[in-house]
Amino acid sequence: MSIQDEFSFINRIRPTKIHQTSSLVTGIGDDAAVYLPTKDYAQIVCTDTLVEEIHFTKETMSPFQLGYKALAVNISDIAAMGGKPLYFLVSIAISNRWTEDELVEIYDGMNTLADTYKIDLIGGDTVSSRESLMITVTVIGETEKGQELLRSSAKDGDVVFVTGTVGDSSGGLELLLARGRHDSFTEHEQFLVKRHQIPSPRVEIGRLLTNLSRVSLNDVSDGVASEANELAEASNVTITLLAELLPISKALQTYDPTGFMEKALFGGEDFELIGTMSETDWKKVKLNGDTSLTKIGSVSSGEPKVLLSKDNSLITLEKKGYNHFKK
Ligand code: ADP
Ligand code: MG
Repeated sequence: MSIQDEFSFINRIRPTKIHQTSSLVTGIGDDAAVYLPTKDYAQIVCTDTLVEEIHFTKETMSPFQLGYKALAVNISDIAAMGGKPLYFLVSIAISNRWTEDELVEIYDGMNTLADTYKIDLIGGDTVSSRESLMITVTVIGETEKGQELLRSSAKDGDVVFVTGTVGDSSGGLELLLARGRHDSFTEHEQFLVKRHQIPSPRVEIGRLLTNLSRVSLNDVSDGVASEANELAEASNVTITLLAELLPISKALQTYDPTGFMEKALFGGEDFELIGTMSETDWKKVKLNGDTSLTKIGSVSSGEPKVLLSKDNSLITLEKKGYNHFKK
């Protein structure tokens, strides 16, 4: 391990302030953390791991960005349940390739996002690894009992929506793999690169969606095609997406005028939210002037599958590995 002493390392990364003071009984420093759940709230827990050379390299992400993203991808899962994040734990496997200062930078990245959401680091584990760094983050969140937004709630007649724009992260990754993060990028390229390195979880929108009568929800970690298939399977419905409705950023259209659709559908790691709601709720959302959601298709009864309507033809969108666009 590249750190001198585990205990002094833990002391360096130990939070100096606590956000959830009223419910946290004990955080870092004992055998386990203890906190009090909120009355009438359900607990939500998720965990995700990023592995060096698989999910990132030193060329695609700075240590700060790595920390930020490792936490962001988990907060995104909480957002996809309609929850708000409260606490997180970090397990890190360290190799000699990493200095203690770089490791502390990883925690700086996590703390920056943790401060935004007022969430606390309450524990973790520190171990050594041969070569690759591995970072596992676990986030605990909550939502009002019975208000959790499941993938299985889609129904015939629903509107399919997505937040933000899709495909950007995939464009950013392509740029980073080709040129490395120290290259100079145009403004559009920079936008895509940042979308890959420091994604924004959509917690606020997820929370707003819990106020509607029925919403099915998923976050876009593996691409629109894959996530829409997960909604279709969990809800046992057919989803039809309209290619021309997919929200694509100006930056992605400029960077990849021929491949943006492929990236939007199969790229992944956008950490936007995709889901469905009734027509009635959709009208309400639009009446409120909400512009953060884009309608991209509809739900019908039928076998669980996802169809894409493009240029007057209807094709099946497989969960992964789609390449039918390459005619
Ligand atoms: P134990 O042996 O009881 O598991 P450790 O010595 O592993 O305790 O950890 C001491 C304290 O520091 C615990 O509260 C643990 O949750 C926390 N901790 C250890 N490693 C990390 C880490 N990488 N990030 C955050 N907290 C950590
Ligand atoms: Mg331990």
